[in-house]
Amino acid sequence: MDIAVIGSNMVDLISYITRMPAEGETIEAPDFALGCGGKGANQAVAAARLGSEVLMVTRVGDDLFAANTVANFEANGIDTTFVLPTVGTSGVAPIFVDEQSRNSIIIVKGANASLTPADLEAAEAEIARCRLIVVQLEIPIETVHAAIDLAVRLDVPILLNPAPATHGLDYARVAQCEYFVPNETELATLTGMPAGTTNEITAAAAALIEKGCRNVIVTLGSRGVLWVSTDGEVLIPQDNPVEAVDTTGAGDAFIGCFAHEVTHGSTVHDALVAANAYAANSVTKRGTQTSYASREDFTAWRR
Ligand code: ATP
Repeated sequence: MDIAVIGSNMVDLISYITRMPAEGETIEAPDFALGCGGKGANQAVAAARLGSEVLMVTRVGDDLFAANTVANFEANGIDTTFVLPTVGTSGVAPIFVDEQSRNSIIIVKGANASLTPADLEAAEAEIARCRLIVVQLEIPIETVHAAIDLAVRLDVPILLNPAPATHGLDYARVAQCEYFVPNETELATLTGMPAGTTNEITAAAAALIEKGCRNVIVTLGSRGVLWVSTDGEVLIPQDNPVEAVDTTGAGDAFIGCFAHEVTHGSTVHDALVAANAYAANSVTKRGTQTSYASREDFTAWRR
C-alpha cells in the first residue's frame, strides 16, 4: 500500500448556472451532474488514477448513495476494507458552478461526522503498511488529531490539508506533519495572520515553520504554489497555460498527485511541479473526480 487517505466522501450534486441566485430567488440551471466527491475521496481517486495503491478510511450512510460510493472506489482500484457503514445519511455536497467557473459549495457531512479515532485504531495495521497518510478537515477534528498521533506513533509521514478552513486545529500537532498544504484562506485561518499578498503568505507560512512544520505548501490557484521549508521559500508558478472551465476539486487533484509523486521517488520540488500540472489539467474539465486524468492521459497531455 502506498497511501492511506483518512477522510471524507461526498455525493456531489452539481448545478451549472448562469449566475448565483440572490437571496430568496429561484433560478433555473441549464445543466446538472451527479458525481462522487468529498475531499478525502477526491484525493484518493486522483492518486489511484496516477497509479498509487490507496487505502480509504471513511464512513458512508445507509442510503442509496452508499453503494454508488463504494462501487466508485472499487472502480478506481481503491481498497475499501475500511469504508465503514453508518446509520443515517451519506455526506452530500450541493455545488453551484457559474459561467465564469466560480463555485459555491454546501457541505452536509452526514456519515463523515461519525468517523472516529476508534475507526483509525481498527485500521491501524493496514495504515502502518502505507508510506504516506493523507488527511483533511471534513471529518471530526478529534479524528484528525488522532490521525496525526497515529502517524507519529507508526512513524509514517502525514500530509494535512486543512480544508475546509476550520478553527480548533491543534498547533502542536500541525507542527508534527511532514506536509501541511493549505490554500491562502486556510493559512490565514490557522495562523490568524493576513495571507493576501505573496509577502504575507510567506510570513504566515514561515511562522508555521518556526513552530516546527517541515514543509508548508500553499496553493495559490492559477498562480501556482509556494513551498516554504527550513531551507527557505520557493515559488513554483503555474506554467501550464490552460483555459479554466471548472476549478472545483483542483486542490484535491493537486494533493492526490503530490501524494502519488512523493511516494514514488520524486523530490518535493518535482512533486509540486507535477501537482501543478495535474491540477491545471483538471480545471480544463467539468466536475471533480470526472476531471482527474489517468496516468496515461496525463502523461500524453504533458508532452
Ligand atoms: P478547490 O477548493 O477549488 O479545490 P483550493 O482553493 O483548495 O481549490 P487552489 O489554490 O485554488 O486550491 O488550487 C490548487 C492548485 O490547482 C493550484 O495550486 C494550481 O496548481 C491549480 N489551479 C487552480 N486553479 C487554476 C487555474 N485557474 N489554472 C491553472 N491551475 C489552477
